[in-house]
Amino acid sequence: MSKIINWLNNREFIDGDYLGNLCHKDHQYRNTGKSVRCKPTDRKNGKCVCCRKIQTDKHYLKNKNYYKNKATNWNQTLEGRIYSREASRRQKFKDSSNHVEKIFHKNIIARVNTFDNKCAYCGINLEILDRTNQNSLEIDHVIPKKNNGSHCLANIVPSCRSCNQDKRSKNMIEWYKDQPFYSKARLNKIQNVLNQTPYPSNQLELLHNWQLA
Ligand SMILES: [Zn+2]
Ligand SMILES: [Zn+2]
Repeated sequence: MSKIINWLNNREFIDGDYLGNLCHKDHQYRNTGKSVRCKPTDRKNGKCVCCRKIQTDKHYLKNKNYYKNKATNWNQTLEGRIYSREASRRQKFKDSSNHVEKIFHKNIIARVNTFDNKCAYCGINLEILDRTNQNSLEIDHVIPKKNNGSHCLANIVPSCRSCNQDKRSKNMIEWYKDQPFYSKARLNKIQNVLNQTPYPSNQLELLHNWQLA
C-alpha cells in the first residue's frame, strides 16, 4: 500500500470531511471507491485530502526554515500548548482503543472560557500558562479513559491538577458528591454544557453510512 494511502486510512475525519468522488490520482479510502474530500466551497467540490497533503508537503520542504521558526514561536503560546497537549492525549486514548476525535484548540479554549477559567469541580481560578503551578489548567475527561470514555468535546471540562488527579478513573458524580467543595450548581453546569455538545461524531456517522450501504 502506498505511503499516502496508508496515511489516509489511519487519518481521523475532521469537521467538514466527506466521502466524495474518487480523485484523478485514485486516492481511494478503504475500498469505498471514494476519496475523502474536505469542505466544499461555493464554487467547487472539496479537494481530496491526499492531493492536498502532497501539495502542502512539497510547499513545506521548499520553505522548511520559515516553518520551523513559526513552529517554535507557536509552541510558546497558549494555543500552541493546548494544541500539542490535545494531540498527545488523543494518542493515549487511541492507543487504548477508545473513541477519539480531534478537538480543535479553539474549542478547548472556548470550553475553558465557558467555565470562566475556573476548575469545573472545585471552582478555583486556573493558572492558564504556568504548567508548574498546582492550579495549572488540565483537561479532564469526565468519563475516564479506563471506563471507555471518549476523547471528544462532549467529554471534557477544565479542571485543576488536584481535582484531575484525585478523580482519576472514579465515577465523576459519585466522586464529586464526596468532595468538601461539592456544588450542585457546578454539577448542573457540567451536565448542561456536556449535554449541549454534539455527540456522537461526524466520523462515526461517515463510517456508519458507507458500511451500511
Ligand atoms: Zn487525491
Ligand atoms: Zn479543582
